[in-house]
Amino acid sequence: MSDNYFDVIIIGAGPIGLSCGIEAVKRKFSHLIIEKGCLVNSIFNYPTNMTFFSTSERLEIGDVPFVSHGDKPTRREALEYYRRVKHAWNLNVKTYEKVVSIDEENNNFLITSNKGKYFCAKLIISTGFFDKPNYLNIPGEELPKVKHYFDEAHPYAYLKLVVVGAANSAVDVALETYRRGSKVTMVIREDKIRDSVKYWVKPDIDNRIKEGSIKAFFNSNILKIKESEVDIQTPNGIITIENDFVFAMTGYHPDHDLLKNAGINILGDEDKAPEFDPETFETNRKGIYLAGVVCSGIDTGKWFIENSRYHASNIFNHIEKHMKN
Ligand SMILES: Cc1cc2nc3c(=O)[nH]c(=O)nc-3n(C[C@H](O)[C@H](O)[C@H](O)COP(=O)(O)OP(=O)(O)OC[C@H]3O[C@@H](n4cnc5c(N)ncnc54)[C@H](O)[C@@H]3O)c2cc1C
Repeated sequence: MSDNYFDVIIIGAGPIGLSCGIEAVKRKFSHLIIEKGCLVNSIFNYPTNMTFFSTSERLEIGDVPFVSHGDKPTRREALEYYRRVKHAWNLNVKTYEKVVSIDEENNNFLITSNKGKYFCAKLIISTGFFDKPNYLNIPGEELPKVKHYFDEAHPYAYLKLVVVGAANSAVDVALETYRRGSKVTMVIREDKIRDSVKYWVKPDIDNRIKEGSIKAFFNSNILKIKESEVDIQTPNGIITIENDFVFAMTGYHPDHDLLKNAGINILGDEDKAPEFDPETFETNRKGIYLAGVVCSGIDTGKWFIENSRYHASNIFNHIEKHMKN
């Protein structure tokens, strides 16, 4: 076989892509993991001071212990941990290489990236969902002051911020910036902060809203973003407030373009989930599997690291049966 042939290619070096690589090593299949950014790129791009909602043992893969200093691991600890996992299992990862197309040639899959071409017998797509924000689709969203990702609070100190959303990301941004002196207004479609917000954070945000130190408009929508103002539809009519930055923390969704390019069906008008077997994770395209949160449709809350770690072993049980027969 040539240098660029592998039994299994995995697209995406997130925690679940890495767990697939580990499974390949355990079962003695040659493998390559192709990653468009750095190792665990999504986690790298999470807010700098982010803390996971999971305890560290629930983020463990490949029997490598994840030691964390607090109750819940931080982003920094997770980066350190997954680097160690890659090293411990000697995973074959190519970073900064984006897969752009998936074809078939001589009964193998042909994977084309921006840097090269590779062949494999089986393909696993574990591309996550963090690259595609859910846009508000309102006038002004293209302004540079509108952010769909948050890094840290310091650049926004003392400024007037609007935070859109009521889930964990929105709440984290609101609290962190409020504590660095920002004047924070939350715009929330629902009538309350989501119940899914981390249980140790929820009382904090509820109480800051109740006491008025963070202003919240419930049952409200942001209508228009201008250079120094935003218009908000509230139950009492449209109001306009002064504004420096907008954080639209309205979630993300998987990039289905690569899946469609590979011939994977996207099902349903509502959920838009890709077609795959829930036991083996093989898609309608034989020999191509999905792993991790890319399995979700619009409802991205269904899968996370904790509950999708088992995808790798199910996939390889199926691959093993087919490759060894
Ligand atoms: C702020 C935040 C906090 C979270 N906290 C928790 C938690 O506490 N516990 C938990 O279990 N889950 C948590 N999650 C969810 C969890 O982080 C994700 O579920 C996890 O990253 C999923 O792993 P994955 O490997 O499926 O996808 P990802 O980690 O997103 O990995 C996908 C990888 O694929 C790469 N990629 C995408 N397209 C291409 C391409 N065309 N070519 C090559 N590479 C590509 C991406 O760069 C990325 O590195 C959190 C998510 C967020 C946003």
